[in-house]
Amino acid sequence: MDPRRNSHWLKEAIAPDENDCPSLGGDDSADICIVGGGFTGLWTAIQLKQQDSSLKVALIEKDVCGAGASGRNGGFVLSWWAKFLSLEKICGGEEAVRLAKASADSVDAIGEFCHQQGIDAHYRRDGWLWAATGEQQIDSWDGTMNAVGRYQQYPFKRWQPEEVSARSGSGKHLAGIFEPTAASVQPAELARGLRRVALERGVRIFEHTPMTKLKDGAQPVIVTSHGTIRANKVVLAINAWSIRFMPIRRAIVVVSSDIVITGAMPERLEEIGWRNGMTISDGRMLVHYYRTTRDGRIAFGKGGMHGNLPYGGHVGTKLDGPSPLADDVTKWLNWTYPKLRGVRAADSWRGPIDRSKSGLPYFGALEGRPNVLYGVGYSGNGVGPCHVGGRILASLALEKQDEWSECGLVRPLGRDFPPEPIRYFGGKLVRSAIARSDAAADAGRAPGPLTHYLASFAPAGLSPFKGQKT
Ligand SMILES: Cc1cc2nc3c(=O)[nH]c(=O)nc-3n(C[C@H](O)[C@H](O)[C@H](O)COP(=O)(O)OP(=O)(O)OC[C@H]3O[C@@H](n4cnc5c(N)ncnc54)[C@H](O)[C@@H]3O)c2cc1C
Repeated sequence: MDPRRNSHWLKEAIAPDENDCPSLGGDDSADICIVGGGFTGLWTAIQLKQQDSSLKVALIEKDVCGAGASGRNGGFVLSWWAKFLSLEKICGGEEAVRLAKASADSVDAIGEFCHQQGIDAHYRRDGWLWAATGEQQIDSWDGTMNAVGRYQQYPFKRWQPEEVSARSGSGKHLAGIFEPTAASVQPAELARGLRRVALERGVRIFEHTPMTKLKDGAQPVIVTSHGTIRANKVVLAINAWSIRFMPIRRAIVVVSSDIVITGAMPERLEEIGWRNGMTISDGRMLVHYYRTTRDGRIAFGKGGMHGNLPYGGHVGTKLDGPSPLADDVTKWLNWTYPKLRGVRAADSWRGPIDRSKSGLPYFGALEGRPNVLYGVGYSGNGVGPCHVGGRILASLALEKQDEWSECGLVRPLGRDFPPEPIRYFGGKLVRSAIARSDAAADAGRAPGPLTHYLASFAPAGLSPFKGQKT
């Protein structure tokens, strides 16, 4: 699969005749070498150059920048407020508030950066609706709202059910809370814009240059099929693909997320009342997330629906290209929007999600390898948070002692997931229990005790449910 065709967004953002950056052509060196050309890698590179323009920063990307999750996601630019319970558990209350505020600031900063740098990433700051599409989901946000309230923080607005259904264009939304800070983007346009700015600032980008090996030492050496790069620090910004490293594999599992997009139908969106760029997620465990686009389409995604998990440390290509579940995802779109009377998908795609147990990322240096840094585990909420990640990784790479390098998400990798083959088969069991739990909730009944028990091993979503082992 040509990586440029991995999503509707990438097809829109990369002209067929656009030149890729050259591959690495021999042995080279850099002060800092970043592996991975998505939001994490590109924001880190830009931050580094911003802080010291004389730094030699190199970035290698196995495909083209944006070909990973950054060019294929839903484009929701969210803060960490909805994940406050997990954040509080990891960092304590005060630090959780500071980081949640920092993540909300990042939503604004991304818009400002796009404006200043002339990046047309279709940035719209129309907020995010956390909606209930079933009775069991109603008020699932109460724990989070109460927790943030204890710190006198009020990032969400409670909407009356009539307002929820009127402004979202569907009576399937029975209740909801609204976070006005959130924005949306065309994510591949953002990734490609960041690539352009990074190049303008002197970052050397090598595309079609996969890292095949990482050699340890005072100066680690990145080995690729086209040559090597020796660097003082290496930043691993390779998302799901970082499960090739055993310590990271223990801390994250890789699941799929599948998206369909309709044709342009601005007048029908107007008719149903979904009149702006407000993004929406529901409260089921295999989450539904949907948004409109600037040209009046709906992009509708579903998390974790596919049970075909990667085995061991190899992600492979089964999470690339068109979604094999496009028909099912389209059915859910039509279930959610019956007023659209059988809308069809014009395109579909999928991508890998790096899920940590808490739903929040890890930053730091690999154990015993102080010059190899990681930023991984965004768990399907990375578009905004990767901007924070870039700040953290730049501070770590520059060995600064500041509020970023010392923040609560800089921590050793967890040992949360078992080795193979238990990981693969156990993961399949848990995923199918989650799907059965959601189906039971849709049918208005409680899941059986075994299903409930197995589903309790699910990594954290937005709000933990009773008995969840997070
Ligand atoms: C379908 C889908 C929907 C999503 N929706 C949302 C959303 O709406 N909002 C949100 O906040 N988040 C969402 N996410 C998550 C979000 O996209 C990610 O958290 C974010 O893009 C992660 O950025 P990254 O730079 O860490 O990873 P990536 O963008 O995946 O970048 C990693 C890069 O590393 C490269 N790479 C891998 N291995 C190597 C190697 N060996 N050598 C060199 N390069 C390598 C890859 O090609 C890739 O380009 C979604 C994800 C998916 C898949």
